[in-house]
Amino acid sequence: MATMRAMVLEKPGTLLVMRERPLPVPAAGEILLAVAACGVCRTDLHVVDGELPHPKLPLVPGHEIVGCVTALGEGVSGFELGERVGVPWLGGTCGVCSFCRSGRENLCDHPVFTGYTRDGGFATHTVADARFCFPLGEAGDDAELSPWLCAGLIGWRSYRMAGEGEALGLYGFGAAAHILAQVAKWQGRRIYAFTRTGDEAAQDFARSLGAVWAGGSEEEPAELLDAAIIFAPVGSLVPAALKAVKKGGRVICGGIHMSDIPSFPYALLWEERCIQSVANLTRQDAREFLDIAPQAEIKAEVTRYPLTRANEALSDLRDGRLQGAAVLIP
Ligand SMILES: [Zn+2]
Ligand SMILES: [Zn+2]
Repeated sequence: MATMRAMVLEKPGTLLVMRERPLPVPAAGEILLAVAACGVCRTDLHVVDGELPHPKLPLVPGHEIVGCVTALGEGVSGFELGERVGVPWLGGTCGVCSFCRSGRENLCDHPVFTGYTRDGGFATHTVADARFCFPLGEAGDDAELSPWLCAGLIGWRSYRMAGEGEALGLYGFGAAAHILAQVAKWQGRRIYAFTRTGDEAAQDFARSLGAVWAGGSEEEPAELLDAAIIFAPVGSLVPAALKAVKKGGRVICGGIHMSDIPSFPYALLWEERCIQSVANLTRQDAREFLDIAPQAEIKAEVTRYPLTRANEALSDLRDGRLQGAAVLIP
């Protein structure tokens, strides 16, 4: 019998364990992929650490999957055997709720999430709903494309929510920010990168990608910002970012989980500043980003780990020892 290997979460708060399983057969509408690379996202960390409720268990995490189609379920059209595709966080929607029917499938009442409520890509193989997969073409390296699937797509949605202003702050210069900095530079906007206080390596990294300024999250940049996007899961950054934006400025929270936001004076929100979270992605976000990324010549900086070292990749991400994105290679 053909088998696959996967790094499996059996209980939140514990390490992933390697398991061998029978190779799944794709159901109607699904495709089976041989995983070529799977990025490690901060959301994986929140799932593994038990900060997100009710994951499927046991679970194969991972939702930045680049793979090659090896079997097609009944009724799948638009994909061919051998084709390279990407699988993102949004693994399925109901298609009938009020959100799905109004172009807001990211807020679907009955969603499926890759690597959270269905198995993901920390594995040699995975099965995905073909309607939520994207062709990736042949250009580009598998590992370097994988962070596009979440850091890129949800980063892009956050970037759009931030509006058109020229001065944009990014709090937490990880996988998503390092991609958006390249998009912003390509569009001629000014990026201000805020990192953990004293993290000079991250600040140098941000400047190397075109940030006009990089400093600690408590520092004040030389100009007030049009908008800020917070990727670090740190609630105290919300009032810090409100202080850094000008009248009418937008503060976008791009992560799925954040520590509590401390109370702050209304004056920080006054003058039409606003705070908004970004949840998940729509397939339209994905189409837009996958169209723009090659034009902007986005290049993700990746650190590769063999699949068996997934726990090490997660702890390097947790402790901020990484620049850019961690990627697992089966
Ligand atoms: Zn729905
Ligand atoms: Zn993610």
